[in-house]
Amino acid sequence: MLKGKVAVVTGSTSGIGLAYARAFAEQGANVVINGLGDAAAIEAERTKIESDFGVKALYSDANMLNAEEIGGMVKLAETEFGACDILVNNAGIQHVAPIEEFPIETWNTIIAINLTAAFIATRAAIPGMKAKKWGRIINTASAHALVGSPFKSAYVAAKHGIAGLTKVTALETATFGITCNAICPGYVWTPLVEKQIPDTAKARGMTEEQVKRDVILAAQPTKEFITVEEVAALAVFLASDNARSITGSMQQIDGGWVAE
Ligand code: NAD
Repeated sequence: MLKGKVAVVTGSTSGIGLAYARAFAEQGANVVINGLGDAAAIEAERTKIESDFGVKALYSDANMLNAEEIGGMVKLAETEFGACDILVNNAGIQHVAPIEEFPIETWNTIIAINLTAAFIATRAAIPGMKAKKWGRIINTASAHALVGSPFKSAYVAAKHGIAGLTKVTALETATFGITCNAICPGYVWTPLVEKQIPDTAKARGMTEEQVKRDVILAAQPTKEFITVEEVAALAVFLASDNARSITGSMQQIDGGWVAE
């Protein structure tokens, strides 16, 4: 479905981003992966994408806190693969604390990685997409782009900001064959979530199953985690030609969370 396309996925060394990169590659796209982490582990994921799917994969070590490096990541796709057809703004971090105790520095970092980096990458990718009259920009937002939760001020603000950026990007690119949409997942089973469970169980004197159902999934009516593969399948659809008229949308994949 995506043969000949090039996808750049920020924050794709683990979790949802890695699933996006693998799903695009499975559809025949060459991919640029990006993110932090152990160099050997990243290189292993990169070569696995190439051997599993017979496409080319490059790694960009661009830090989403650095505007020049973000621009360089898009340039890398354009110079090495000839284009950045699909841009997925996915890198994100979280911090949980009451507003009055929330470190200002941490607020600034979350806004920079979760919101400003998406603006900078989008800004860099649009000229090439306009020239080709084809492009797909997919922003990993969150259920927290649509509703709030206590103690997550910076994250919720950044994700609501991503919703606004998605709409404006869609409007500015609508006549150029480019779409821009946000994916709004509820709780997705990623290493980030998995690692919290044993400690939370210990701290609360609960079983791990109770933590999953009654603490983490309290807001998710299905009481089941979403898988990274489900989120990636939605991104593949949004990147397809069949989705050419879907733009400026918030795609909920949240087990019913924001319906409540
Ligand atoms: P994750 O921690 O597994 O992945 C985050 C990725 O971002 C990693 O590849 C990491 O290296 C990268 N990253 C972090 N800081 C970076 C920086 N400064 N520069 C470059 N890369 C950086 O987490 P995930 O759960 O896969 O989250 C991916 C996205 O999905 C995030 O935007 C997150 O907000 C969103 N999301 C996650 C969930 C969930 O339940 N897991 C739910 C809704 C939305």
